[in-house]
Amino acid sequence: MTGLVLTGGLVACPLTGAVTVRDVILRDGVISADAAGLPRRDISGQMVIAGLVNAHTHGHANLNKGVADRWPLEFSLTSGGWMAAGRDAQMVYDSTLLGAWDMLSKGVTAVYDLAVGMPAPDPDHLAAVAQAYADAGLRAVIAPMVADIGFADSIPGLVETLPPEIAASLSTAPQDPEALLTRIDKGMGFALPEGITWGLAPTIPHQCSEAFLRGAADLARRRGWRLHMHVAESRLQAEVARQLWGGSPVDRLESLGILGPDFTAGHAIWLGARDFATLARHGASVAHIPASNQRLGAGVAPVQMMREAGLTPGLATDGANSSDAMNTFEAMRHATNLSRLSETTRDHWIDAATAYGMATQGGAACMGLAPSTLRPGAPADLTILSLDTLAFTPLNDPVVQMVTAETGSSVTSVFVAGREVLTDGQPRFDTRALRARIARHMPALEAARADQRAAAEAALPHIQQFLDTRPKPDLGFTRTLPMDPS
Ligand SMILES: [Zn+2]
Repeated sequence: MTGLVLTGGLVACPLTGAVTVRDVILRDGVISADAAGLPRRDISGQMVIAGLVNAHTHGHANLNKGVADRWPLEFSLTSGGWMAAGRDAQMVYDSTLLGAWDMLSKGVTAVYDLAVGMPAPDPDHLAAVAQAYADAGLRAVIAPMVADIGFADSIPGLVETLPPEIAASLSTAPQDPEALLTRIDKGMGFALPEGITWGLAPTIPHQCSEAFLRGAADLARRRGWRLHMHVAESRLQAEVARQLWGGSPVDRLESLGILGPDFTAGHAIWLGARDFATLARHGASVAHIPASNQRLGAGVAPVQMMREAGLTPGLATDGANSSDAMNTFEAMRHATNLSRLSETTRDHWIDAATAYGMATQGGAACMGLAPSTLRPGAPADLTILSLDTLAFTPLNDPVVQMVTAETGSSVTSVFVAGREVLTDGQPRFDTRALRARIARHMPALEAARADQRAAAEAALPHIQQFLDTRPKPDLGFTRTLPMDPS
């Protein structure tokens, strides 16, 4: 029997946002009502919150912080090859562990990692990703991103507009769907450490042929893996869906039988009320990724529309190349603030308690986890915040201040399944050694991917030209803010 009683602290209910002083009893990995025989820890002056869930990130991107200043999504996709290239399993492990450290120090207990899996998942690399999360003590779904069509070839008309040498560097022959599915199945054919499960991420609808997407969903369901896709992340993606299939990406996914309670739509910006109703009807979930959406100029996801359809979106940071900070407190802050930018009434604004529920209950739904409710029977996944910090001085409304002012610097402890995996702000692995290894990796990594990076950078002006000059059909709605030109 293992356990601990946290006593004397405030407890913020993730279901209501209500804050009370009460004991929180951790026993055998879950929250319990029975404190008998357990040691006690006085946490007066601190606050217990449910463990935060990062519902969409990319562990391989943690070595790419700062590479993308003014990149729209399509620059990121053009650069996807070099950003994941040139790594051995140790680099993959260290990249993932760096993100795990970042997220733990921001109060995260569970992570949905869309790890790179192209051209096909590498079992050694996936094992390194899993080991990093296991060593950090985080729960994780590891979903390799897969596709049988390259980015440039998936956009109608793009390759034709490129100079021949640029087209040759970006265009790739499509993979054979059956052969790729076999490689995926083999690459993921090993058991994962406790607390870590598989997902599969056919990355973007139009980068997947019908045969591949149907096969991938079928494989995932036979194996009990969850499914996660980037859906309507940019205006161009919504346009391409109309061009290819005469509807939205959600229409396409529904028609192929891809949607279900195991399915998460990441970003979900350029969708309408009908799409969210479809997702809700199939019991699917949505990962709202507001920092990345802003950083990439992708638009504002209509969170209130999702909620009115009956969805409870999870919150996410995305990978470190498109949000840089792996901060779920910031995700809550962005979610509340962005909901107020459209011309709508105040009752449509996301309040702090709702954002806290999205970051916990919504994220758990994306990952297929039992939600951390801090009530008896729930998993003992929780974070302790010091209230003796600037964010909480003076202490007027702890949940509002957590959402509007907290940066992560108040996080003292994190528990996952009742085990303390961050203590006094320190994870249980050697962070100094990790930083030293990363410093050693970077010159080798830069050298190994230099040619691929140069080729992608040469293509970016042409991608920009395509984006700027393509005819933009009227979608009937917008997800960027209209500004009066006067
Ligand atoms: Zn992503």
